[in-house]
Amino acid sequence: MNHALNIDARNGNAPRIDETTPRALPSLAGMTREELRLVAIDCGVDEKKAKMRADQLWRWIYHYGVTSFDEMTNISKDLRAVIAEKYALHRPKLIDRQVSVDGTRKYLIELAPGVECETVFIPDVARSGALCVSSQVGCTLNCTFCHTGTQALVRNLTAAEIVAQVMIARDDLEEWPTSNENRKITNIVFMGMGEPLYNLDHVATSIDIISDGEGIAISRRRTTVSTSGVVPKIKELGELTGTMLAISLHATNDPLRDELVPLNKKYPLKALMEAIRAYPGLSNSKRVTFEYVMLKGVNDSLAEAKALVKLLKGIPAKINLIPFNPWPNSPYECSDWDQIEAFADVVNKAGYASPIRTPRGRDIFAACGQLRSESQKVKASVLRKQRLEAEGQSNDAGS
Ligand code: SAH
Ligand code: SF4
Repeated sequence: MNHALNIDARNGNAPRIDETTPRALPSLAGMTREELRLVAIDCGVDEKKAKMRADQLWRWIYHYGVTSFDEMTNISKDLRAVIAEKYALHRPKLIDRQVSVDGTRKYLIELAPGVECETVFIPDVARSGALCVSSQVGCTLNCTFCHTGTQALVRNLTAAEIVAQVMIARDDLEEWPTSNENRKITNIVFMGMGEPLYNLDHVATSIDIISDGEGIAISRRRTTVSTSGVVPKIKELGELTGTMLAISLHATNDPLRDELVPLNKKYPLKALMEAIRAYPGLSNSKRVTFEYVMLKGVNDSLAEAKALVKLLKGIPAKINLIPFNPWPNSPYECSDWDQIEAFADVVNKAGYASPIRTPRGRDIFAACGQLRSESQKVKASVLRKQRLEAEGQSNDAGS
């Protein structure tokens, strides 16, 4: 099957460009089942048959990953032609792809003119590999150790844009059609750019699409959503998505957490821990992951390791110790390795699994907290002008 990747030439090694799809047409890639049903009706399909047609489209798009309507052989040629006049199958443009010496891959994706997000594939995680997706471009929260936090929020991603990140990675890894055997992306982690719980509706819809067994089929239990602690949305996340929860904790007392994760001033530790305990379905087989970035001399003492154990008492938990990943002019240093191991030891002895997360893709700036795109907040009027210009160009290309 020929999967045309929408790739620009910024990276010399990138696969070839295929810009034959007129971009002004809306793409079906990333749509929900209901949206596809409406597409079918819009293309003249009888209301009674629209769901069946939507199911067929769904399978082609999310199981086979097709990028051409010609491949949809169980849909009549006439109907295919009508759909192709109004709709397309392109993904957002992949403008750069970098591959680390450790096999980590970082994708820079243009969602709209001047709006870019990053997505990272990390091999050898869980059963095979994890895809780290972004939920926002930039972030409104200014965690002091995080590069994304130094970029103003540009905007929330739509559900389709979140799904498209998975589709682009699957295109690149050549893993269409979806099979449960030998797949490279087995897990999804919402640990890219942005705070997923500030974009919960779109995140939840994207998870509905990604986890659907007739398509990409990465299950909710293999999907983890990480939050810096948006307390009022934590329970809702569980109810809407049934995914695994990760909490970016990083400190065990309010004064330090106020400093590292300023959102703590709004939702302090007591409220956060209560919300976590209320997360639906927690058990020893569905534990909360607590992320703890190791900052030298800031939060890495053994007294803090003991405080951590105390804080988590009674919660089915695992603790992920993340060596701090530096970025240009970052104000911290990573803890010494001996200290990280001693810290892990205290936590392990208390009965918690506490793997130290090996930094991945540092050489291509793809490690936790290193993502930051060049996108900047632009006035709506400027965006509108850019969009019209881009549409004009793609119409030219398509004619
Ligand atoms: N906004 C969400 C998800 C994205 S961040 C959140 O904060 O949970 C994903 C993880 O990377 C979080 O645990 C975050 O605290 C951590 N992180 C951020 N910057 C980091 C850095 N420089 N080094 C190591 N981990 C970092
Ligand atoms: Fe935003 Fe998460 Fe970075 Fe904090 S750690 S600034 S919440 S992306």
